[in-house]
Amino acid sequence: MSTSGFDVKPSANPTDANVRKEILANPGFGRFFTDHMAHVRWTKDDGWHSSEVRPYGPLTLDPAASVLHYAQEIFEGVKAYRHADGSVWTFRPEKNAARFRASARRLALPELDTETFIGSLKALVAQDVDWVPTPASEAEESSLYLRPFMIASEKFLGVRPSKEVDYYVIASPAAAYFKGGVKPVSIWLSSNYNRAAPGGTGFAKCGGNYAASLAAQKEAEVHGCDQVAFLDAVENKWVEELGGMNLFFVFKDGRIVTPALTGTILEGVTRDSVLTLAKDAGLKPEERQISIDEWRDGIASGEISEVFACGTAAVITPIGELVSEHERITCTSGSGGEVGKSLRKQLLDLQYGRSEDKHGWLTRLA
Ligand SMILES: *Cc1c(COP(=O)(O)O)cnc(C)c1O
Repeated sequence: MSTSGFDVKPSANPTDANVRKEILANPGFGRFFTDHMAHVRWTKDDGWHSSEVRPYGPLTLDPAASVLHYAQEIFEGVKAYRHADGSVWTFRPEKNAARFRASARRLALPELDTETFIGSLKALVAQDVDWVPTPASEAEESSLYLRPFMIASEKFLGVRPSKEVDYYVIASPAAAYFKGGVKPVSIWLSSNYNRAAPGGTGFAKCGGNYAASLAAQKEAEVHGCDQVAFLDAVENKWVEELGGMNLFFVFKDGRIVTPALTGTILEGVTRDSVLTLAKDAGLKPEERQISIDEWRDGIASGEISEVFACGTAAVITPIGELVSEHERITCTSGSGGEVGKSLRKQLLDLQYGRSEDKHGWLTRLA
């Protein structure tokens, strides 16, 4: 059997249909995985080859595999959405494919072409299509989260780019990121840690960035906060992003500002989509530097009416409070601002096929 060039080796013991139904009724996030995974191998001599969909299961890695020592790894995050007619779609996967290549270049990993990237999503979803949840209502927001990733697997402790690399896609059914509806999150302003520096890996989606953000995340939790906001590493003045989401500031005069892409910020697909939808809605999007003082002063004066974060996993999430050693500022009250709510609904309506796909953002997977 073969799907878009992928050899399919079906699992001999797939999850029982009743067990799967139980999981899909309450999947949480990132806790359960489907029966298969996609895999493509790369070697310096032969390039990309041996595309397959095979049973989900542990990897066999040599203890000297360079990813385990030098963190030569990148990943992506994509969702598959089931529409009312049963078909399964994904959102702007060519953007994820392009970003995956940009991340690969920065981490000295081989680039994977868009066709193989999207082909791997299609091949895996075709095999595990019964794992794509059917949302019972608009509020349910369930999907199949797809996690493509690439690791350096050569057995070698010298420091240089690996000559052997493996690319995988795993899939995990996901409920709405925030159970019980959207709730504003509190944000800890990190003064001890930065996420990214000029010339570093901030624009790449690599595991190392996340490893380096966890101490700050722990600090946030000690202060009773949900997430961390990072400032730029040079002046500790310019707002960059959260550990895994981009930031937007809504001004009462219709401007909507997000930090410009300076190389230290991850170029979110949701960020780009919000910029487009905001423009369509008659708002004035601005990509520019925004300082922590402009954030504080804008809230104090009422000029900034809402702050929200965005990313594939949680879509759009209002920022309730900004907290640091000496302050606690309410940014968005109640259940979030009207602009964020409206953009959130527009994004979800598009992704679930409830509104017209004017920008051609959807790709059918199954
Ligand atoms: C993945 C990610 C985002 C959000 O990107 P989307 O493409 O919108 O999911 C934002 N910031 C960081 C650091 C990320 O890793």
